[in-house]
Amino acid sequence: MIVDKLQAVQARIVAACATAGRDPADVRLLAVSKTFGLDAVLAAMSGGQRAFGENYIQEGVEKILALREQLAAPSPLSDSSHAGTAEWHCIGPIQSNKTRLVAEHFDWVQSVDRLKIAQRLSEQRPAHLPPLQLCLQVNIDGGVTKAGVPPQELQALAVAVARLPRLRLRGLMSIPEPAPDFVAACAVHQRTRDLFDQINQAGVLPQAMDTLSMGMTADLEAAIHAGSTMVRVGTAIFGGR
Ligand SMILES: *Cc1c(COP(=O)(O)O)cnc(C)c1O
Repeated sequence: MIVDKLQAVQARIVAACATAGRDPADVRLLAVSKTFGLDAVLAAMSGGQRAFGENYIQEGVEKILALREQLAAPSPLSDSSHAGTAEWHCIGPIQSNKTRLVAEHFDWVQSVDRLKIAQRLSEQRPAHLPPLQLCLQVNIDGGVTKAGVPPQELQALAVAVARLPRLRLRGLMSIPEPAPDFVAACAVHQRTRDLFDQINQAGVLPQAMDTLSMGMTADLEAAIHAGSTMVRVGTAIFGGR
């Protein structure tokens, strides 16, 4: 079931890339497993999925630890169909008192919108782990109560975050409000794409950003059209929440 839905999403990505004249190898699929259990993660892994997104930090850490235990234990469940490890992305709001959990357990964090949070993640990233891969969340459609850095403050934050030692700035993430149609969805994603290009072209970062995380179940085609390199899909793989 999950494997079939995963394949259907992969087919959507391939079709969207064909329409947009892009190489499907340039668009990664992040399976958003929030609210679903380890069994759902294992099912997706048996279909070849490796990257998983979690919104709720405590829930995510529990799943990360449970998976590690599962894969370490010689049981009928830990067969070669999901050999290897998963890559975990934190995509939900991060309070200061949760940064240590993120720094110690996740591979990526995509929901950073303040320097203070990035500084704590850098300080708390354990020395034996590779740098934490990071995307800045942009509030692209300007909702006042929304998470995300305002577009006009983005470049300064990117420059500051790129200087922190235990992090690697990879790109931008956005969660726009649902758009009424394809054209409107493309237009809002294009604004994030334009910011991404502007900052890269300004030459202010030590390394260019390579990740544009945008598009979910409802709008992944529009996001790919606008240049997304990572779509974050929950519902279409795991079902409704
Ligand atoms: C839940 C969530 C998703 C997945 O949304 P679906 O509509 O279920 O595909 C993607 N990104 C973020 C940040 C989310 O919170």
